[in-house]
Amino acid sequence: MQSTANWPIIGHEWAVAQFGKSLANGRLRHAYLVTGPASVGKTTLVRALAQALNCTSAPAARPCGECRSCKLIARGVHPDVPIIEAEEAGGRLKIEQIRDLQTTLALRPVEARYRVPMILRFHEATPAAQDALLKTLEEPPSYVVLLLTAERADGLLETIVSRCQPVTLRPLALEQTAGVLRAHFGVPGDRADLLARLSGGRLGWAVRAAQDPDMLAGRDEALDRLEELLRAGRIARFQYAETLAKDKPALLEMLSLWQTYWRDVALLASGSRVPIVNADRAESLRRVAGRVGADAAGRALEAVCRTADYLARNVNTRLAVEVLMLDLPGM
Ligand SMILES: [Zn+2]
Repeated sequence: MQSTANWPIIGHEWAVAQFGKSLANGRLRHAYLVTGPASVGKTTLVRALAQALNCTSAPAARPCGECRSCKLIARGVHPDVPIIEAEEAGGRLKIEQIRDLQTTLALRPVEARYRVPMILRFHEATPAAQDALLKTLEEPPSYVVLLLTAERADGLLETIVSRCQPVTLRPLALEQTAGVLRAHFGVPGDRADLLARLSGGRLGWAVRAAQDPDMLAGRDEALDRLEELLRAGRIARFQYAETLAKDKPALLEMLSLWQTYWRDVALLASGSRVPIVNADRAESLRRVAGRVGADAAGRALEAVCRTADYLARNVNTRLAVEVLMLDLPGM
């Protein structure tokens, strides 16, 4: 049995074990689709698999992280491991990018055993780009392993999904997330617990927040703004909607923050003893809970979830946010 202890992955042990076994048996699929929420570890996992496939150390030590191949892949510059993704934040992955990739896939690897394109955030691919990739998935050259990531599989063409081996990543347990922050990143106890709860077990987010104080400051500001909006009228809400709609990735991050917020308000308003996520804002959350009540908080939570769902299906962003603004309670 091949060891997987040297894989640079925290959590997702079953996925690593599954890859380790396939590599040891030489029973690789031609395409893998790794799904899961943003910052849960999808890219880290497919990068490690690309390294394991092309590592030049002894099989038991792969991926070693030390050889030329592993290092080039870590830096994203290995000629046989191209990274294909939407060119701008919030943009789409276009058909031209898939066509360019297909030209290179027709050629044998330059220096590695496999050509391993990492096609990231494939949920951002246009329907035409998805359709174009289908051809490669139907008849992949023997030296090609396609690694796709996406937040969800349900927005992708069924024919794409059915030709890939699915690997679904779930958030880590909160205790594990907090433990990693303490042990590997030197985050003190209480702060590690708070970041773990705020991240919802998405380790990538938790680590970024631990290393970048601006992220938490930005969250505080965003929640202050939300509380102002509850007191504001329709015009102020629509103005804010317009600002939010301009930056879709930031908007999606905001919606996941609002989900934790309204869940906390609903819990407090209904007198539940389930621990809240935004524990450092307990006082203002209690105030809002007292004003709006459990029913309105529950409806706000539903509205936020519904909006996130619409946006995942690429509906008109501004319209979706304006509808959400009308669904938020007043106080
Ligand atoms: Zn290596």
